[in-house]
Amino acid sequence: MTQAIKRPFDVMSVREDFPILQQQVNGKPLVYMDNAATAQKPLAVIEAMNTYYREFNANVHRGAHSLSDRATGEFEAARDKVRAFVNAPSREEIIWVRGVTEAINLVAQSYARSTLQPGDEIIVSQLEHHANIVPWQIVAQQTGAQIRVIPITPDAELDMAAYQALLNEKTRIVAVNHASNAMGTVNPVKEMIRLAKSVGAVTLIDGAQGAPHLEIDVQDLDCDFYAISAHKAFGPTGIGALYGRKALLEAMPPYQSGGEMIERVSFSGTTFNVPPFKFEAGTPAIAEAIGFAAALDYLSQFDKAQLKAHEDSLLQLAAELAPSVPGLRPVGTAKDKVSVFSFLVDGLHPSDLGTLLDQQGIAVRTGHHCAQPLMECLGVPGTTRASFAFYNTREEVEKLFAALQKITRLFI
Ligand code: PLP
Repeated sequence: MTQAIKRPFDVMSVREDFPILQQQVNGKPLVYMDNAATAQKPLAVIEAMNTYYREFNANVHRGAHSLSDRATGEFEAARDKVRAFVNAPSREEIIWVRGVTEAINLVAQSYARSTLQPGDEIIVSQLEHHANIVPWQIVAQQTGAQIRVIPITPDAELDMAAYQALLNEKTRIVAVNHASNAMGTVNPVKEMIRLAKSVGAVTLIDGAQGAPHLEIDVQDLDCDFYAISAHKAFGPTGIGALYGRKALLEAMPPYQSGGEMIERVSFSGTTFNVPPFKFEAGTPAIAEAIGFAAALDYLSQFDKAQLKAHEDSLLQLAAELAPSVPGLRPVGTAKDKVSVFSFLVDGLHPSDLGTLLDQQGIAVRTGHHCAQPLMECLGVPGTTRASFAFYNTREEVEKLFAALQKITRLFI
């Protein structure tokens, strides 16, 4: 098979694709470093959604007219693009959801609630986002299952020996993130899945931070579920996708119910549609699916390794510049990371630091990053987090550190 020729990565030309980056904030050129919260959208995404509303807004799957045919075609073509993006074996295994949060709730309330027994165990890690903790806590309460937590090392890497020790014949589910939003740590998910399988556990990977930075191949990983949010991967908010292994999806009960997810409704008994539609009750997020596909098309122009190499170089530069700021302590120094630089500055509260950086036009995130158990374990109230995307430049990283130097001179 011939490989399509990729667009060579050039950060300055890439920035022109993102209208939002061209503006000033607080009188300074915007330096957007809150990409782990949500990434910016290229013009191609904005235009794809705009075109849907201007030219073929219609409901999908059930219209007897041309607009609906076109909307259905583009909506289902978007599913094919997500299938290819995660390398799922079939399109029936891609379920539209609102994002990773809904994907995990779906698996917890459909798969886990219908299969877990009292005493069964669910393994998560200390590094998880609340979205990969709370749905499991709720289903554990509903079923009598127990949550087990993989501890971390001082570098915020998962303690793999402890993970192996936690696995046993009662382990039913292992749910971990591909990469941590708070620390950037990339977890050895392939090996973790292999180990989980050796005790017969089902695996779910929270790919919220995987999708924008890492290659995803659910067949190579051999996971049972993989969840992504479009908005973290340069697509719109309000849509994401859950990959689920076909045999599991077929056996799982519906999550929500109503139109679209049925085969036949009658007061003497209702039968359900086949996956993926069984899990897609109601009118879906049509414009968002089309926008998501445009984001994946946009990304597919590039060699993902080139984007990652650029992001890695930004992270490396941040690590080199860190000692230039008095009292700055990086938090989360794993060997394998996506481009998340989390840190503390002695004598400055993260939220004050965030406000002061914003005055310089620099957008970062501060606080617990929806990972309170992690912050508690690290003994910190929260951190300041600069998370880089491929459209960030070395000059922007230098600006961040120049601003931090100025702030520490003035306030400490
Ligand atoms: N998991 C991780 C690792 C995340 O970073 C996030 C969002 O920050 C989520 C889950 C939740 O994603 P969403 O809010 O798109 O549902």
